[in-house]
Amino acid sequence: MSRLITWSPSLTLVPSRGCFNACGYCSFRQPLDQADALDPAVAAAQLAARPRATEVLLLSGEVPPASPQRSAWFARLLQLSRLALAAGRLPHTNAGPLALREMAALGRFNPSMGLMLEGLGPAYDRLHVHAPSKRLEVRLGQLQQAGRLGIPFTTGLLLGVGESWDDRRAALRLLAELQQRWGHLQEVILQPWRPDGAAARPLSTVEQADLLELISLARRELPPEIHLQTPPNLWPLASLPAALEAGISDLGGIDSIDVINPAYPQPAPARLVQVLAARGWDLRPRTCVHQAWWSWLPAALRARVACVARRLASSC
Ligand code: SF4
Repeated sequence: MSRLITWSPSLTLVPSRGCFNACGYCSFRQPLDQADALDPAVAAAQLAARPRATEVLLLSGEVPPASPQRSAWFARLLQLSRLALAAGRLPHTNAGPLALREMAALGRFNPSMGLMLEGLGPAYDRLHVHAPSKRLEVRLGQLQQAGRLGIPFTTGLLLGVGESWDDRRAALRLLAELQQRWGHLQEVILQPWRPDGAAARPLSTVEQADLLELISLARRELPPEIHLQTPPNLWPLASLPAALEAGISDLGGIDSIDVINPAYPQPAPARLVQVLAARGWDLRPRTCVHQAWWSWLPAALRARVACVARRLASSC
């Protein structure tokens, strides 16, 4: 009998690359004063060009909370969320730390939202020395806030930046404690850090072995309802089944390109289906919010999600 693995047909919209942080590994950001905001007409055209993308990931650089640009930036997030819903899609915003009222407002239009925990310990401290919103207490506060608001949430760890196994264990235990308290973590992304541009290279066998051990550890440490996710474009396709055997149960949102790691091409979903089926896995599309969390949603949003799920099921 086949085992189930899921993915979400996705389109990434970037409201702005402008970011006040300067993370040590980032090739996405632009300085705040040089970044353009995404024009809603351009966003609408991108949506129209990708009619099968049921999830719209709103992935943005961050404007600091006290900035005079903050309200326009946040209004754009709301506007794009509404635009996605009006186009029959499901927005999933990942735009850095949000004030309580901002997260609550977005939660009325986003069936799920996300923020990476990334990790803890000296390696992350060094990478985030110029990234005030990446402080551990800020990120944990956001995950708690999402729990209090009852928003189905995606978080994750960035791996392979020099962190120790103790750091990894401690980060997983923090996530497990959050889940025991709030129950809102639907996914934990186990994201290998990869060099970008000309330095791009596939995961070595040593790196793969390290990640497989980490995936197994995460499966043991985290409550079983949390889906473990990894981006399939960062794994050699032939090795992906080993990641599934170790505990990965979801391949996340798959767009035609990965805007964070553009040097790593996305595998075609049809090819993924074929490769995984040969190893006994049944790859199925899902909505951005996993079904176990549908009952958490306001009725109107739940109806939208159910409608999109029916569309996905009929396209299988
Ligand atoms: S917060 Fe995100 S966009 Fe901003 S510098 Fe860090 S990784 Fe880049």
